[in-house]
Amino acid sequence: MNTYQLFRRSRMRLALSYAGVMAVILSLAGFSMYRFLIQSNWAAIEREMESIAGTLHDSLKPMLPSSENPTAILQRILPELCVTKQPCNVSPTLIGRHTTGISDRNTYYIRLFDRQGQILAFSPSKISAELPQSLTTAPWQTFKSAKGIRYHQFTIVLHTHDLQHQHVGAAYSRNETLRERYNNLHNTQPAWGYLQIGRTLAAFDAQEQQLKLILAIGFPIALVSIAVSSWWLSKLAMQPIYQSYQQQQQFTADVAHELRSPLASLLATVEAILRLPPSQQQDIPIMLHPVERQGRRLSHLITDLLFLTNLEQNSFTKPFQPCCLNDVVSDLTEEFSELATAADIHLTSQMPKVDIYAMGDESQLYRLVSNSIANAIQYTPAGGAVNVSLTLTDRTASIAIADTGIGIASSEQTRIFERFYRVDSDRARKTGGTGLGLAIVQAIVQRHQGQITVKSELGSGSLFTIRLPVGTNAQK
Ligand code: ADP
Repeated sequence: MNTYQLFRRSRMRLALSYAGVMAVILSLAGFSMYRFLIQSNWAAIEREMESIAGTLHDSLKPMLPSSENPTAILQRILPELCVTKQPCNVSPTLIGRHTTGISDRNTYYIRLFDRQGQILAFSPSKISAELPQSLTTAPWQTFKSAKGIRYHQFTIVLHTHDLQHQHVGAAYSRNETLRERYNNLHNTQPAWGYLQIGRTLAAFDAQEQQLKLILAIGFPIALVSIAVSSWWLSKLAMQPIYQSYQQQQQFTADVAHELRSPLASLLATVEAILRLPPSQQQDIPIMLHPVERQGRRLSHLITDLLFLTNLEQNSFTKPFQPCCLNDVVSDLTEEFSELATAADIHLTSQMPKVDIYAMGDESQLYRLVSNSIANAIQYTPAGGAVNVSLTLTDRTASIAIADTGIGIASSEQTRIFERFYRVDSDRARKTGGTGLGLAIVQAIVQRHQGQITVKSELGSGSLFTIRLPVGTNAQK
């Protein structure tokens, strides 16, 4: 499997897992919300019916006739209800409606039954015709009419004032539920008859259907959006891994490339030495010089690589200490003066009167400045000048290394900090550069929370400025 396929498969797996988790969360949330809405609506419906039943029971109780033929009295106390076997021609007044507490006759109905379950009175609505005429005494019932409309009804036992002193409505207002009180009364007291409050569930069912529709449409849309966003998010997540993988690949290729030439030349020389006839044995020491040179170059390269890797992995455990930057600059200027003189370069330095201290690893700070000065000398032709200056501005120490050398084209200025990048590979190799000098410089600067900038013009010279934060007690 090639790298592209490997990353694509990982991305797919990541996106699928993310979408799967999100789909499960979304379905659970959607289902819970649906259940909650339905249940709370249902509970509200039952509460409302219980409350109407309680109120009605309380208003009817003192007025219920004890005689065998209650029709006349019922007509008087419930003018808004039709009484069985009587012409039903009611046009209820607002007061009448108020008596039963029901104003929506298309939704609710009321029915009164006698003790034997014979219907005595009913509310004059279109609904009444669709209802079963027989009485079922179970308190709560849900049924479907011939037209397919669902109804929910609540039946309570009616007790007259004479028969008992407890009443359902009063019980409802106390801690005991109406249902409990209903059961108590039903079991212990003789009944006058039954009161039935019911309502259509058309609105409730329509709302449930609407909710289902919203979920049925919304869920696939949400799933598609989740799938698209997880594909995009997985790309974002894989990007840094992919980049770092590519960098590793590039690094391995670069290292192999860097090692190949010196190793090839080294092997060629060793083979030549081995094939040397005994008569030419005296040439061996001279032939070993390039071997030594290449060996040193390799060792230098590997040391630099290890140092850079340790810097990048932050595996240096030595704690930071205040380091005198004046000492670093003056020591290194002095150290490089011999090399500069040999190359016919005028090396100078400017130092402030006060000592500037930065928190850091002293050996790394030496390496930082030494790499920069070495480059300045290396890339400045004979007769040129290199100046190193140290200044302090706003708690920031600046070390500027200016040269009058060959300069760097602006297109190359960002790339020179990459590992193994050289502007002119042949020239840099000849001068012994590994292409790691500025990468090490940048890694050290970053480890010390500093900054490095370069200003350069081809043919006119370069200015590298290293800025390091000065610690609280660093300026002494
Ligand atoms: P090298 O070991 O080749 O010097 P560096 O990482 O130190 O590698 O530098 C990378 C490249 O940046 C060099 O090959 C050189 O082309 C360019 N460079 C660095 N410093 C200077 C400078 N002061 N003047 C001109 N070019 C420079």
